[in-house]
Amino acid sequence: MADAQRDDALEWPQTLDVASLLGRGWRPTPFREFVLKVHSRCNLACDYCYMYEMADQGWRRQPRKMARPTVDRVAERIAEHARAKLLDRVDVTLHGGEPLLAGEDHLRYTIETVRAACAPEAEVRFHVQTNGVLLDRRFLDLFLEHEVRVGVSLDGDEEGHDRHRRTSTGHGSFQSVQAGLERLRDEPYRRLFSGLLCTVELRNDPVRTYEAMLAFEPPTIDFLLPHGNWDAPPPGRPPDTSTPYGDWLVAAFDRWYRSREKRTRVRLFDDIMMLLLGRPAGGEAVGLSPVAIAVVETNGRIEQVDSLKSAYEGASATVLHVSRDPFEDALLLPSIAARQIRDSALAEQCRACRLRFVCGAGHYAHRYRSGTGFRNPSVYCHDLQRLITHVHGVVSEEVAVIRARRDRATAGGSGGSGGSGGSGGDDQMGGGSKSASRWRPSMKTTASG
Ligand code: SF4
Repeated sequence: MADAQRDDALEWPQTLDVASLLGRGWRPTPFREFVLKVHSRCNLACDYCYMYEMADQGWRRQPRKMARPTVDRVAERIAEHARAKLLDRVDVTLHGGEPLLAGEDHLRYTIETVRAACAPEAEVRFHVQTNGVLLDRRFLDLFLEHEVRVGVSLDGDEEGHDRHRRTSTGHGSFQSVQAGLERLRDEPYRRLFSGLLCTVELRNDPVRTYEAMLAFEPPTIDFLLPHGNWDAPPPGRPPDTSTPYGDWLVAAFDRWYRSREKRTRVRLFDDIMMLLLGRPAGGEAVGLSPVAIAVVETNGRIEQVDSLKSAYEGASATVLHVSRDPFEDALLLPSIAARQIRDSALAEQCRACRLRFVCGAGHYAHRYRSGTGFRNPSVYCHDLQRLITHVHGVVSEEVAVIRARRDRATAGGSGGSGGSGGSGGDDQMGGGSKSASRWRPSMKTTASG
C-alpha cells in the first residue's frame, strides 16, 4: 500500500538540505547511544511486533547473528566516534530480535571487544533489552561481571501479557518471563534490573496493568504506544477526535501519581512533567531533544532507530556500513539530521500548537504518512493532547496546594516552616510553580536553550 504510492525523494526528510543547515551554523549532536542488533531472530512471535509483523520485512535478509568480524568493526567505529567527538562515555544496548539468542559466549565477546576498543578514553555502559524468556543464571552472571543493565518487556499481568506475547505455537510467555524476572530480582543480580517496557493495549485495564508490573518492583516502567501511522493507524485509534490511548494513559498516570511512595519511575510521565517544568527529557516519545542513537544491524549496516520499520520497507535504512563508513557520516544524512533540529522538523500544525515543546509531535515513527513522509502531527495527536493537558492540570493543582501551604506557614511566622516534606516539595515544584502557571513562556525558554 504505502510503498506503492511513495516517492522517497519527495518525502520529508529526504528534502531536508543538510548543507544549508550547516551553512546556517547548525551542528549535529554526536551519537551517544549505539544499539547493536546482535541477533536478528526472536524466540517469541508477538503479533504486534514492529520488527516482524509490520511494513519492513528486511529481517528476513539479515544474518541470524552479528558475525565476530562485524563486531570488531562496530567496536572500532564506536571507539573512533567517541574519540572524534571527545566523548568520555557511550551507551551500548545489546538488542535483537532477542539478543540472548546470540548466546553467552557471543555476548561476552561483543562486550569485551567494544569495551577494549573504547578504553581508556571512553567508558562503555552496557544494556540489554530482552523478552526475559531465556534469562537464566549463566546470562545473569555474565551481566553481573560486566555491569550490563537489564530491561525486560512485560505487558502487565498474565492475561494482558499473553494477549500478544506468545510463542510461534501460540503459548503465552508470561510464566517464563516471570521466572526470568524473579531470577533477576534475586541477589546479587537485583542491581542490574533497569526496568520494564510495556506496550499499551486498550483491552487491558490500565491500573491492573500498572499494578501487575509494580509487583516486580522495577526501578523504571516505560509505557510504549503501539507503533502505527496515518497510513496504518494503531489498533483502536479511529480517525476522529476520540482519545482512547490518552484515556488509558491518564488512568495509569493517576494511579502512579497518587501513590504515596513513588519507588518506580514511569519514564513517559516523568518526561512530560520535566518538559512541563521547562527541563529537558531524554526519551523519544515526547519533547524535542535531539535523537543521538545509531543502530547497527546484524549485517553491519548503520541504521536509524528500528521503530521506523513500522512505517514502510526500508524506512530505517541508510546506505552506510561499518566496514567503510564512520558514524560521523551518518550524522549528516537528512534522515538523521531531521531528528536533531527540534521544532524545525515539525509540521505546520505542530509548529502552531501550544503543546509543541512538550509533545514534540510525539514519537517520530507515528508521524508517517505517504506523500508527506514524517512531517505530520502524530497519529496519536488527540491522545497526546489529552495526556499532556491532564498532567499539566494535576501538576498545577499540586503547585497551588504547596503554595497555599507555604503562604500559610509564612503568614504564621514560623521561620523554618514547611517541614521536610513541604520544603522538598517546594524545591521540586518551585520551578514548576512558575512553569505550571506560565507554562508556554517557560517551554519556549527550554526550546531555545
Ligand atoms: S502532535 Fe498534536 S499535540 Fe503534538 S505538537 Fe503536534 S498538533 Fe500539538
